[in-house]
Amino acid sequence: MPKPKDLTGKTFGNLLVIEEVEPRCTEKHKYRRWKCKCLKCNNHVIIYGNNLSSGHTTQCKRCSEKQNLDRTTHGMRHTRLYKTWVSIKARCLYPSAVSYERYGALGITVCDEWANDFSAFAKWALANGFIEDAKPHTCTIDRIDPSKGYSPDNCRFTNSYVQSNNRSCNIVIVDTDGETLTLKQAAQKHDLDYPTVYSRWYRGTRDVRALLSQYNTRTGERISPFR
Ligand SMILES: [Zn+2]
Repeated sequence: MPKPKDLTGKTFGNLLVIEEVEPRCTEKHKYRRWKCKCLKCNNHVIIYGNNLSSGHTTQCKRCSEKQNLDRTTHGMRHTRLYKTWVSIKARCLYPSAVSYERYGALGITVCDEWANDFSAFAKWALANGFIEDAKPHTCTIDRIDPSKGYSPDNCRFTNSYVQSNNRSCNIVIVDTDGETLTLKQAAQKHDLDYPTVYSRWYRGTRDVRALLSQYNTRTGERISPFR
């Protein structure tokens, strides 16, 4: 019978074998196991001998997971997700960016975890409903509390309607009777269809009577509040 192989001191990829540990035994087989040190992260792991000598396992689980993630994120530069990440960083961190004055300059930040690591952002996004090939203007990133920054606990993916709804919390108008209202409150007060009022505002209407008119100014139709 050949002498059983001793792997102590050998390296397999990034794994340095420290010592043999208790084998795992089944009725028919005995699987030898080895304690190894991952030379990449100094983590200690227990690996089956045959996985080492066959070249199947060459690093610890933590490092191979990280590598997998790097591999998926590598080559994502042309994806919508990557562009989303780049534009979030630009608007919050770079004063030269066009929209910086509406974000970074107002104290809207991006958390360090996302700012420093696209794969952290990607991991969160994919676990939270991001769809790469969603229709344009759907599945956009939204801050739940618009006064706070970009971070896992304040963001979600949503369609553009919800997003503009949220943003419009900041739109304040003065009604014809002198009452100060948000656009949404004004729409409710006058029994108007909110998206219509918002789209009038969005297209540039600032005159309160025109904004809150009961009729669609374009077609002359009565707008149903139940639409
Ligand atoms: Zn490792």
